Amino acid sequence: MSHHDERTFVMVKPDGVQRGLIGDVVSRLEDKGLKMVGGKFMQIDEDLAHEHYAEHEDKPFFDGLVEFITSGPVFAMVWEGADATRQVRQMMGATDAQEAAPGTIRGDYGNDLGHNLIHGSDHEDEGANEREISLFFDEDELVDWDLGTSQWVYEDA
Ligand code: GDP
Ligand code: MG
Repeated sequence: MSHHDERTFVMVKPDGVQRGLIGDVVSRLEDKGLKMVGGKFMQIDEDLAHEHYAEHEDKPFFDGLVEFITSGPVFAMVWEGADATRQVRQMMGATDAQEAAPGTIRGDYGNDLGHNLIHGSDHEDEGANEREISLFFDEDELVDWDLGTSQWVYEDA
């Protein structure tokens, strides 16, 4: 394992769930060779929304963001792989889906800054991945398993 076991927190937001994109997001991450180790269909309450988006507390869009993220179910996940946090961010595309490159999840399905379908831990924010994982999951909700195709994804698996 070693460097193939970086974990990151990923979430299909309420707009992504309503748009029927859970399956596509999961497929894309599977196709990339990442391994899902946790998944939870849930609704975020006000407290969790405030904790999760604490860094944006003072932003003008904060209240709208909390209202949006608590407005319907989300699909929260933990994915594992080499450089997983940055890899997922690349697959998500830019925050503003109008600017996100085609081929990315936001670029292919979104057309708005706030309603941008997916959340992934920020690789530029040290420790954000593990912090967010522990906010949404207990360790015993995560599954330790071997992905059979790993040896074909990684040269040094
Ligand atoms: P992310 O890490 O790419 O999700 O982006 P940020 O951490 O900067 O912002 C968190 C979330 O807040 C984004 O995914 C958007 O849903 C929302 N958001 C960010 N900036 C704005 C903004 O200027 N206006 C609105 N309405 N929403 C925003
Ligand atoms: Mg962010």
